[in-house]
Amino acid sequence: MYKKTSETKVLRDPIHGYIHVDDQVIWDCINTREFQRLHRIHQLGGDFQVYHTAEHSRFSHSLGVYEIARRMISEVRSLKEALKEEEKIQVLCAALLHDLGHGPFSHFFETITQVSHEQMTTHLILDPKTEVHQALTRASEDLPENVAWILMHKHPNPLLSQIISSQLDADRMDFLLRDAYETGTSYGTFDLERVLRTLRVKENRLCIKESGMHSIEDYIMARYHMYWQVYLHPDAKSYELLIQLFFKRYRKIVDQIEPIEIFSCLLKERMTSEEFILMDEYRMMVGFQEALKSKDPILKDLATRILDRHLFGWIEDPTPVQEQEKKKELIQRGLDLEYYYYEETSSSKAYLPYQEQDQRQTIWILTPKDQLEPLSYSSQIVKALLKMPDRTKKRIYFAKNG
Ligand code: ZN
Repeated sequence: MYKKTSETKVLRDPIHGYIHVDDQVIWDCINTREFQRLHRIHQLGGDFQVYHTAEHSRFSHSLGVYEIARRMISEVRSLKEALKEEEKIQVLCAALLHDLGHGPFSHFFETITQVSHEQMTTHLILDPKTEVHQALTRASEDLPENVAWILMHKHPNPLLSQIISSQLDADRMDFLLRDAYETGTSYGTFDLERVLRTLRVKENRLCIKESGMHSIEDYIMARYHMYWQVYLHPDAKSYELLIQLFFKRYRKIVDQIEPIEIFSCLLKERMTSEEFILMDEYRMMVGFQEALKSKDPILKDLATRILDRHLFGWIEDPTPVQEQEKKKELIQRGLDLEYYYYEETSSSKAYLPYQEQDQRQTIWILTPKDQLEPLSYSSQIVKALLKMPDRTKKRIYFAKNG
């Protein structure tokens, strides 16, 4: 039997009102250094450069995912009855810890270390040296493994992974609501209460009663708008690009300059858990400030741009003439195209807010005849969305003139 806290702990939260904790292991995990570190990682990477209030952290999002998972397993009767007591604890821990392995400015960090945040999360949970591993083990010897299995979609009960990571999961529900609130946009809002009220379990799958379909359509549209207005905003990408280019330059010249001590572990083949835990966005900023002293003009310039928000400009779907002119102008200004010009192409298909390629990717509707049906059968809006033509976009980024 898992230990309870002496009384229910409540943490105020702008999205959920309160976060409720009454399992000792959850409270212990919150108080580990690995979890506290999430205070120092922005939830939205470089988006605070576009939406200036988007300063919220992975810490508050992780608590929010935990709270939604907690409500799912205690308020949805068919789910409550489908899970064993130990599975409930396992899924709550997985919800709380699912983003533990995010590095500073996550996407940039994954490109530089070649380790995904999912891999890093399970690594920290399974490493006997981490406080989080020790907190889980104190509650039950097999808890770290079970939590890792849920996050890797390898747990014998697939329902648990669906709660954390599927098309209708606690993770997305929290980040859409939270990111919309913190950016001050209204696109991401949808009726969470209605979704929870109509959530069911059938044939070991999470599904939504047909009467809740409109709230799900709203949730899908919220995703669609948030992708384009917030998550893929070109100025946020421009900021993250500067960080990426800074490290491209740093790696190239590190042998010729006074190295920046703080960044030394980033160039290693593999970081230790200890090095990773210390590597947060605060530390990165100190490193960029150090780089202002560098003798290398490019490194110094990129660090200045990061610290003072001198973002690159960008053009969407440029003509070949525009591209050539831009390159010519940069060369005339004495700028190296390696570091001052960047192009990317992306397919809109990759950012569709919903797809039904396989069963795991499908949201199921429970019909009045008690049968499961993919969402696109029941919803005309979603059916139309799935037929949206794929569009490849090209975007060029460059150092603005003046
Ligand atoms: Zn998350």
